[in-house]
Amino acid sequence: MQTRDEAICLRAVNYSDTSQVVTLLTRDHGKVAAMAKGSRRAKSAFDGAIEVFSCGPVMLIIKDNGGKLANLTEFSQQPRFRGLHQNLYALNAGLFAAELTEAFLEDHDPHPALFDKLLKFLETLQAAEKNAERLAWLILYQLRLLEEIGVAPALDECVNCSAPFSENWKSAWFSSHSNGLLCEACETAFVEKRKISAQLVTILKSPAKLSKTPEDQLHQIEQLLIYHLTELLNKPPRTAKYFVQ
Ligand SMILES: [Zn+2]
Repeated sequence: MQTRDEAICLRAVNYSDTSQVVTLLTRDHGKVAAMAKGSRRAKSAFDGAIEVFSCGPVMLIIKDNGGKLANLTEFSQQPRFRGLHQNLYALNAGLFAAELTEAFLEDHDPHPALFDKLLKFLETLQAAEKNAERLAWLILYQLRLLEEIGVAPALDECVNCSAPFSENWKSAWFSSHSNGLLCEACETAFVEKRKISAQLVTILKSPAKLSKTPEDQLHQIEQLLIYHLTELLNKPPRTAKYFVQ
């Protein structure tokens, strides 16, 4: 099946002297791994070798037999996010988002809203001027990704006894396996958990607060997310190391 779509490149790996294998997030076909034959030749249908974060219209031939690798036959790459390469922190935040998007999405499972959110995230990341701002946008994208794939953490009540969360909780725990909060009365029965302050839970419950959250609290939230993402993926995401404190 030959199809047109919009795509963002999440990963590009060289394959032979002239070609690449790329992982794309497309708007209507979800994540697609594709062979870009001849993409590294000086003259190709891809406007040069394909780079991570390149985005634009693509032409794909997706195999009807469910074959894993599609053929990418055209990619009008817009270097909209080349500015990310000028700031290492922004670049790593973008790569972290791309890695997580690739890891959590199934092939050919469309998430057009997430496609739009990733574009928006890369735009705001590129425009941000401070690392705290960049981190806040990264956290927001990570939360949106979990929401989009249907595993948003349950933060309204204790996942064990349903006691409603309140800012007056003296302490709170987060269990990754239970995907939500544990109250003080229940936490001892759980082996896998991580303590967090009630204040951080309040911020996570209304992510609009992230833009006004002090940097040290953003770091604490990111540590919790890295803990959670590591449990979900059964290994630490590669790019997480740049954000571990
Ligand atoms: Zn409880």
